[in-house]
Amino acid sequence: MVPHDLNVDLHMHSSASDGVLAPSDLVARAAANNLEVMALTDHDTLDGLAEATEAAADHGIRFTPGVEISVTWAGETLHLVGLGFDPQAAPLREALREMQRSRHRRAQEMNQALVDAGLPSVLEAALAFAGNPMLVGRTHFARALVAQGVCHHVQEVFDRYLTPNKPGYVPHQWARLSHAMSWIQGAGGTPVLAHPARYRLTETARWALLQEFLSLGGRTIEVSTGSHTQDDTRRYQQIALQWGLRASRGSDFHSPTESRCDVGRAPPLPDGCDPVWAYW
Ligand code: AMP
Ligand code: MN
Ligand code: MN
Ligand code: MN
Repeated sequence: MVPHDLNVDLHMHSSASDGVLAPSDLVARAAANNLEVMALTDHDTLDGLAEATEAAADHGIRFTPGVEISVTWAGETLHLVGLGFDPQAAPLREALREMQRSRHRRAQEMNQALVDAGLPSVLEAALAFAGNPMLVGRTHFARALVAQGVCHHVQEVFDRYLTPNKPGYVPHQWARLSHAMSWIQGAGGTPVLAHPARYRLTETARWALLQEFLSLGGRTIEVSTGSHTQDDTRRYQQIALQWGLRASRGSDFHSPTESRCDVGRAPPLPDGCDPVWAYW
């Protein structure tokens, strides 16, 4: 079997960040969906990796460590996935600890913004949904507001309160792209620009981002992801080919009830793409 044909999913979340399944339950779901190669890519934490590594070995799934780091670039939040790094690398671990402190501070500001918008205070509930209070994020606030009956589902909370220019959205300064790249590269890993079609960038800014990503040693973008439409996937297939970039594939799975795409069910990479996993 050639690498292109493997069932691969290199982007998903566990309860260590804003997914709902424990790492071992996520791996069991991956096995049930016939996944052959997987990465766990929780936001700004490596906490789920040990449990997932062990579970993947039990299920005969090839596992690679992952993480998804939030970056602020030209005022926009971008996500950089790191794959195949050494999870013990001290500079990466220390950088993620600082990201977590910053996440925790933002949660207080987000709660205040929601209260100012006339909603009940759900800070405690959001922290409880997060499990680890240092990994609290918008999704946990969304789940807490659904539990309070403020909205019917998580997507509605995002649409009404938690996206840019909505009353509960707090602009936040995440990591610099160059720093996040060097944390991943310094730990021996591969940086991947996650779901590139999702960013609100002009064409010129999109070009500048790819230039900067390349100049920092970036070689890989997500082409097939649960966060892309079919048109997005075709567009980034073309961009990957034009720019000579390798392609990644991932579901961005968070939850059986909230996610559009199940584990292992992102569309296969389009023809002509150069799969990043063929290099491992
Ligand atoms: P945070 O890193 O805390 O700002 O939260 C970002 C996470 O919120 C993403 O990884 C998604 O899981 C989720 N998210 C972001 N935007 C949306 C949206 N428009 N609808 C639903 N979920 C979203
Ligand atoms: Mn998420
Ligand atoms: Mn993301
Ligand atoms: Mn993600």
